[in-house]
Amino acid sequence: MDRYRVKPDSRVDLGEWDPNDKSAFPEGKSEGRKRLLELNQRLEELQELLYAEHKHRVLIVLQAMDTGGKDGTIRHVFEGVNPQGVRVASFKKPTPEELGHDFLWRVHEQVPGKGEMVIFNRSHYEDVLVVRVHNLVPKEVWSKRYEHINGFERLLAEEGTTILKFFLYIDLDEQKERLQARLDEPHKRWKFNPEDLKERKLWPKYVKAYEDAISKTSTSWAPWYIVPANRKWYRNLVVGTVIIEALEDLNMRYPEPEFDPTDIKIE
Ligand code: AMP
Ligand code: MG
Repeated sequence: MDRYRVKPDSRVDLGEWDPNDKSAFPEGKSEGRKRLLELNQRLEELQELLYAEHKHRVLIVLQAMDTGGKDGTIRHVFEGVNPQGVRVASFKKPTPEELGHDFLWRVHEQVPGKGEMVIFNRSHYEDVLVVRVHNLVPKEVWSKRYEHINGFERLLAEEGTTILKFFLYIDLDEQKERLQARLDEPHKRWKFNPEDLKERKLWPKYVKAYEDAISKTSTSWAPWYIVPANRKWYRNLVVGTVIIEALEDLNMRYPEPEFDPTDIKIE
């Protein structure tokens, strides 16, 4: 999955990334679906181990343009995982109370504790994305945030948190189809937000904001992955595989009992 990881200090030009790429799993959709079922099972085992060992923390950040597939990724990649061990934190427009604090205040509260896996559906990155595109704070303020983000994530990492950040990359044509589907299919209409059409017009500004954010904050301790996301099955496989590989690298073990089980007799 290295091909999708953004090397620290590199300059991202999204024009050079292909949202249709499927080079890591060229077998196609039906094989891909089978593979996802295997991934779901493996993730379930690893999550249980994470919980049992109670040592590591895992933070997964999902960012995307509107309709990019954050919700679908959560639904499909984490299917089968015990809901007791995984939590989703969704970041919406900040409340007045949240706006009264620094931008990381509401985020820090949601980070995983030991044995826990937390998925950020949007994140502190909105504070250098939507906030920048809409000039919600002056440039002097948002431009300093990249460094604050790197410091914050470094703190989490040094205290034992594995951080994986995914940008689900779709293109404008794919977004058009997905927005149209939200209008055409009655069960998807609740997701349609007329505001999304205004955001769509700002696409080039978002691209620039994403390029900057990813370039400045892909670090050895909290790497970004740019996930080709025009094909949903492929996106799920990439995200699932990156997470599983990272969990396997933790070399987790079930805790040793503090008693000798062969000594214990249950009457
Ligand atoms: P959704 O994820 O579709 O439910 O939409 C959530 C909305 O909240 C999006 O339009 C985000 O851009 C917005 N949002 C999230 N975080 C922030 C933030 N820090 N400042 C402003 N808007 C935000
Ligand atoms: Mg939305």
